[in-house]
Amino acid sequence: MTDEDDLLSFMYACPFGLIELDALGDIGLINPHAMKHLLPLAGAHGVENFFTATEKYAPELRNFADGFADPHGTICDGHRIVVDLGQKSRDGRPKVLACSLVKRGPNQLIATLSDISAQVAQEDRMRQADTWFSALIDQINDHALLTVAGNGTVLSANPSFVRQTGYAAEQVIGHPLETILSATDSGEQIPFSIADQLSLASRDGWHLFEGWEQRANGERYWCQRLLVARAEQGDDDDPTFSMVLRDVPEPAEKTNDLIELLTRDYLTGATNRMQFQKVLKLEYTRCLRRGQPLSLIILDLDEFKALNDRHGHPAGDAVLKQVARIGADCTPTRAIFARLGGEEFALLAPGYPLSEAIDLAETLRRKIAELHIAVPSGQLNVTTSLGCAELSETDGSTDDLIAIADRRLYEAKRAGRDRVAPVAA
Ligand code: GH3
Ligand code: MG
Ligand code: MG
Repeated sequence: MTDEDDLLSFMYACPFGLIELDALGDIGLINPHAMKHLLPLAGAHGVENFFTATEKYAPELRNFADGFADPHGTICDGHRIVVDLGQKSRDGRPKVLACSLVKRGPNQLIATLSDISAQVAQEDRMRQADTWFSALIDQINDHALLTVAGNGTVLSANPSFVRQTGYAAEQVIGHPLETILSATDSGEQIPFSIADQLSLASRDGWHLFEGWEQRANGERYWCQRLLVARAEQGDDDDPTFSMVLRDVPEPAEKTNDLIELLTRDYLTGATNRMQFQKVLKLEYTRCLRRGQPLSLIILDLDEFKALNDRHGHPAGDAVLKQVARIGADCTPTRAIFARLGGEEFALLAPGYPLSEAIDLAETLRRKIAELHIAVPSGQLNVTTSLGCAELSETDGSTDDLIAIADRRLYEAKRAGRDRVAPVAA
């Protein structure tokens, strides 16, 4: 057997996805496992180029490779790609792939892809157990502890809580948590109400929050609050929670840095796909519960490939950052603006009926069209196509909300780009 034959039989037998590519991402060799993972990611883009195939879900891979100056070495190791948006794999878990990229020479990269959905689900469970454990330790170390009912009513308060906050137990027990916590926002992009924090904690097992609190005497202090869903209850409909409050000497930047890292897109700083997915589910239940409308705008930059080809990838990156800045500026308080991948963004607007979402989309369209970005090759302009949809138009699922907004986005493209669909009534 030749070396080539050896390599081919190794690639074929290899239990994970293995891809050989050049510096620009063009694929040389690819084994069946890699093909299985890459095909659904790539969709209509095809699997000729690795970066194009993955850019919808992990546009940062190209940035990692471009930014890697060493002649060889590991570009990224086990980088996580969250694949689903709404729909889950057969066993109800979100699908997560791990991708490693190794540079072997000036024009040769090796990528590996493996499905780590099961591992991620296991980690989530471990994380829950871990937070539980820390909550118990915290309690031993004299930290204020409350138990809270699913409706936000305080059920009990320990002596440390009384000491730390200056409230007497009877001032808090039986009262809603809102009236006890001042809950000044610590700069989180989405200020969650207590009800939302409770639903986040029941979904994720825990919710961590930092901000200024007030003692009974009006004195302010920086407080870390850990809200943990009490697993032993086993009653999903009426869960109880433990809340640990820690009086920390000064704002711990670290927690917020970590929150940033987990929820922001690497290039543009917009909310990332994973966080978008979380907020979408949360707002979906919240709007249904409150009988409020929920609208989604999906936007995609026009002829962006041509812009990249003409002015270079760094100029394209600069445009993406500017678009994210405009998106953030145009985003109402409860809404979020996220980068879904590549040159595709979404604005989720809870409380917005379709007509108002269309107005918002029109503002976005105009502001993006008015952008003038200076690049070495001259002035740059860019336009967008936008599709809007409201939950009440759908079959009631977030999947359908995304599908309708997406379909309208393509209607806007077909009708000539630089426009919003549907058009305002
Ligand atoms: P259309 O108007 O139909 O949307 O055309 P298009 O060219 O925008 O659409 P297409 O999906 O063919 O091309 C998207 C391009 O976006 C291709 C890819 O090179 C570019 N792109 C994706 N992610 C990034 C990124 O992070 N930085 C830069 N500079 N370009 C990116
Ligand atoms: Mg486009
Ligand atoms: Mg696109």
